[in-house]
Amino acid sequence: MHYLDNSATTKVLEQAAQIAMKCMCEDFGNPSSQHSMGNKSAKILKTAREQVAKALCAQPSEVYFTSGGTESINTAIFGTAKKYGKRGKHIISTNIEHSATLKSLKQLESEGFEVTYLNADQNGHIDIEEFKSQIRDDTILFTCMLVNNEIGSVLPVAEMGKILKQKCPNALFHIDAVQGLFRLDITPSKWKCDFLSVSGHKIGATKGIGALYVAKNVKIPPFLHGGNQENGMRSGTEAMPAIASFGVACEIRMQSMKQDITHVEMLAQYLDEQMAEKVPFAVKNGESDVPHVQNYSIDGCKSEVLLRVLEMNEVYVSAGSACAKGHESHVLKAIGLSAKRMDTAIRISFAPTNTKEDIDALITAILQGASRLRR
Ligand code: PLP
Repeated sequence: MHYLDNSATTKVLEQAAQIAMKCMCEDFGNPSSQHSMGNKSAKILKTAREQVAKALCAQPSEVYFTSGGTESINTAIFGTAKKYGKRGKHIISTNIEHSATLKSLKQLESEGFEVTYLNADQNGHIDIEEFKSQIRDDTILFTCMLVNNEIGSVLPVAEMGKILKQKCPNALFHIDAVQGLFRLDITPSKWKCDFLSVSGHKIGATKGIGALYVAKNVKIPPFLHGGNQENGMRSGTEAMPAIASFGVACEIRMQSMKQDITHVEMLAQYLDEQMAEKVPFAVKNGESDVPHVQNYSIDGCKSEVLLRVLEMNEVYVSAGSACAKGHESHVLKAIGLSAKRMDTAIRISFAPTNTKEDIDALITAILQGASRLRR
């Protein structure tokens, strides 16, 4: 099996699966219970929060567990709108965000907020001067991604955070770092960001777990009300198996981050070389600033048809973004690709466990598909 769709989701790491299993079958107490089994779970919860906080260069008290990237993003955006909507109704974002951001913003627009979407260029980059010129006195939030999930462009969050706080000190800054964790160093305080969203299933933890970093001086209203778990920010009994797996996955990925990046860089370079040599009718979409997300259009091969040929060879990639589910990709459209290029685009996304053999299998399968589809 050659799984090259790691930006959609990843295989759960062995140790992360083991601790989840232990939390389900042995250490299954409720962390709020006043007995030793509860205490044991509370300890596991504390450890996991420390592990995630370390990965985010944050204090444990700044980390709130959520159900994933989508919930973290929604919490930051709607929480800011609710708390500061009286002060201002202007929000800035970009036109290449994940749908969790774009749809949340659309909802706020329908409630009277005004959103400025910065346009990305052909490589998925944002013009800093344009960003600067859009900041207003009534801007309450700037929300953008760190790494684009479809083309791997990286936004200059450090520079943008600095500019935002200089021009409008009261405006809050949210970063969707779902595709950035363990691909780049995450340093929210250096970036002057108030919120940062991450997701467990993109880094080897189970699905259904994420975290929202909230800088310690920032307060937003809770999204879920009830038993006051997560310091009142998110009520509901904690998803302990998933939380523990997230903590362990962070610990493991942090230890190997440097080697993993070097390995994935080697894979990305090998992919580029093989594509250039063996698939001359392939064109790269965007420059991709990180090695783990690569996007190519395979001329003459409609992506959903090509995907089926790849699948017959046990090679798994995405057509654009997994969330797009066959719909036109707003990101590829935003960077100005023609309908033909969009129709034939595939996203190849690596995990540190991928090998050159996976790329060889991909190239062979593409050539097999192309020999039929390009006739
Ligand atoms: N943001 C980005 C950039 C993503 O790639 C994804 C998932 O693909 C999300 C947010 C949503 O994360 P989750 O699947 O954990 O809800």
